[in-house]
Amino acid sequence: MTEDRTSDAAPADPPPLGGHHPERDAVAARADGFVAELRDWLRIPSISADPAHHGDVGRSADWLAEALRRDGWPTVEVWADGPALPAVYACWPAADPAAPTVLVYGHHDVQPADPLDAWHHPPFEPTVLGDELHGRGASDDKGQVAMHLLGVRAHLAATGAGAPAVTIKLLVEGEEETGSPNLKSLLADHTDELDCELIVFTDTPLFHRDAPTVCTGQRGVIAAEVVFSGGEIDVHSGRVGGGVPNPATALARLVAALHDEHGRVRLPGFYADVRPPTDAERASYAALPFDEAAWLADTAGGARATVGEAGWTTLERVWVRPTAEVNGLHAGYTGPGVKTIVPADATAKLSFRLVPDQRPELIGAALREFVAEHTPHGILAEVRLRGDGVPPYAVDVEHPANRAVQEALADAFDQPIRFSRTGGSGPAALLHAALGVPIVYFGATLPDDRIHAPNERVVLPVLLRGAEAAAGLWRRLASRTERGQ
Ligand SMILES: [Zn+2]
Repeated sequence: MTEDRTSDAAPADPPPLGGHHPERDAVAARADGFVAELRDWLRIPSISADPAHHGDVGRSADWLAEALRRDGWPTVEVWADGPALPAVYACWPAADPAAPTVLVYGHHDVQPADPLDAWHHPPFEPTVLGDELHGRGASDDKGQVAMHLLGVRAHLAATGAGAPAVTIKLLVEGEEETGSPNLKSLLADHTDELDCELIVFTDTPLFHRDAPTVCTGQRGVIAAEVVFSGGEIDVHSGRVGGGVPNPATALARLVAALHDEHGRVRLPGFYADVRPPTDAERASYAALPFDEAAWLADTAGGARATVGEAGWTTLERVWVRPTAEVNGLHAGYTGPGVKTIVPADATAKLSFRLVPDQRPELIGAALREFVAEHTPHGILAEVRLRGDGVPPYAVDVEHPANRAVQEALADAFDQPIRFSRTGGSGPAALLHAALGVPIVYFGATLPDDRIHAPNERVVLPVLLRGAEAAAGLWRRLASRTERGQ
């Protein structure tokens, strides 16, 4: 780490407080206790997908509420309304009643840990290995929520104040890993408590350990099943084949027609609402250190080549361009040996990743239209959309709050902070729609933390830098977020 910044870095900083790195010192002084505390929390298997662990989701919420009370948060509540698994809400008002209010969003539920035998250490016996902490939830998302707790402690210690520079609210839900099924009603039931000027969304990674970034968007998603049916039953491919339509052949044609020769999706109107990234964003992505071979080997699971929509780089294809993917295909006989049939039906599972300002419901309607156009005579088609989908969200990168995140990270990581996005999906658009305020993304985990997979880990020095940046963010936002903005 160098104390000097390279030239294209970072926007000007506000004058440092007192010493040069009071927030860094405050984080360092609390690091050991922080790791012990996080390990404690990670021992609770708060798996929202498994009803057998719903009691643990409650214990995890209680653990967090207790930790917040120990820290002195004046308001701490566990919300367990209706069918929703418990969420934790907390509020620490700023000393200055005119200061803006910022809501931090995260989640305390975790993914199932299967397959258990692929873990080098048991998933709920968190283990420090070198500078990494291994355990389910270490990165997604308990580690990042705990980072905020440490960030607030460091902010108060560095400023010597008894209250934060902005009013900080926390909403840590317990159902994110099952698609936040009750978040919309939770937000509707608590609009007064959750009133704020800005949301800090904490559930996304930095680009790379050596190239930290500010995430500025997530793609949306809509998933569907397309079923083609021919006859009522599978029939003999010799006595009947050649005389009736084959649903598997027809569905294969439909799947093949999803993309044109330039890799563009052929659903009608698919690109009509796509908002392109700005020149600054594209320049920022191009400047990131992207190792294609390493990306293919690790992130892409050993894929042998990059392909995709013509005219866009790999990072752009997975961050700012919409896609159509075949997730599964099933038709006829797939067991051992030979079975000479014309299958009765064929099914394709499809998903579409969406970018601003595409809307899941319009893409669902476009899929129905596309399927109708590609259903041959003699085939019955059915399109089953899976839920309402998740809308995409992207930050205006020039927004003062986004600049404040960028500066806070630049200060903590001692280097320029470029932009990135993540190709996955989350409830940012839902939060934005419900609370009507802008969102910034703030995270300090890494894309190779193996979230949702065996041996999930968090890199502790990176997470501690994140806590330092979080501490610096509150002081910056005090002067940058206008009330009512
Ligand atoms: Zn998460």
